[in-house]
Amino acid sequence: MSKTSKTERLELYRDHLVQVLLSKFLVGEIAKLVPVFEPDHGYKYPLIEAILGNPAKVEGFLDRLSKTGILEKELYDKTLHCPSCVSPDISIHYNCPHCGSFNVRKSSLMEHLKCGYIDTEDHFKENGRLVCPRCNKELVEPDRDYRKAGIWCTCNSCKKSFDIPVPSHFCRKCHNDFTFEDATYEDVYSYRLSDGARQEASLGWILVTPIREFLESLNFKVETPGFLKGKSGASHMFDITAFRKDSEDITVIDLATSDNSVPEQPVIAMFAKIYDVSPDKACLIAIPKISENGKKMAKLYNITLIEAKNPKEAVIALKETCIKKMTPEDEVTKVTSNNA
Ligand SMILES: [Zn+2]
Ligand SMILES: [Zn+2]
Ligand SMILES: [Zn+2]
Repeated sequence: MSKTSKTERLELYRDHLVQVLLSKFLVGEIAKLVPVFEPDHGYKYPLIEAILGNPAKVEGFLDRLSKTGILEKELYDKTLHCPSCVSPDISIHYNCPHCGSFNVRKSSLMEHLKCGYIDTEDHFKENGRLVCPRCNKELVEPDRDYRKAGIWCTCNSCKKSFDIPVPSHFCRKCHNDFTFEDATYEDVYSYRLSDGARQEASLGWILVTPIREFLESLNFKVETPGFLKGKSGASHMFDITAFRKDSEDITVIDLATSDNSVPEQPVIAMFAKIYDVSPDKACLIAIPKISENGKKMAKLYNITLIEAKNPKEAVIALKETCIKKMTPEDEVTKVTSNNA
């Protein structure tokens, strides 16, 4: 997941319709978004239509989510559309290469392994048994007595036989006959939530929201993500920025997760930003824990570190370490006891 599209993803996570869809992935209601085929319209994503309330917006919505790396698309099927009426309700005809008729009968070829005689299956059938028309021996066991030897087609119109028919398409709606050459042939995708987005979105939901509400209850003005302009003139993004409404104090909070231990990179990245922005307080929340190097650097850079196994622990720890130092003692106690 590229850093450049992170801003765009964070913007999308704040979109209510995106949240509705992502929450379905996050709670396990859907694992994979699969299209549903309707003969009149082709492939549809009914769930997305229901969320957006407008079928015309579905394609652009899914496109944006996959381009920013939130959803991962996978080729699910290909659709053919009639070149004349655009209907997706198409059948395949297998035609006679001699006269072009689709009135073709398909049969299986059989070989009597002992004598090598090959003919269509129906020539072997005799009163419910299989008998070789050449040597009159009965065939009982597949692969020992006989084997399938491909297919054989016979044209009911010109009576000629052949082994490879010529395919064409028939539109069930306007009855147009057309070839692959003239058809519209399009990709259809299924979608999954990407691992990166699952992590980011989980943070957004499970972590950012309670922290935001907690800070707001303490009379902070909170932005998630928050953008601050540095001395250099560059704008920096933090997962959370909080301002006291009654003072100029700025607190910045970043979140970092890892499968086992968060490396020092998020600490370094945060230091680069706070060096330019100079907030009053910087706090990094590492889930589930941080590496020894990361710990040392955080201390060196004066970044308050919170290690928590899960989002709930993170919020409790934040109340105890970070917030205590930036709010009057009594306010923290009050909120903590209310939420206990
Ligand atoms: Zn048609
Ligand atoms: Zn024919
Ligand atoms: Zn035989």
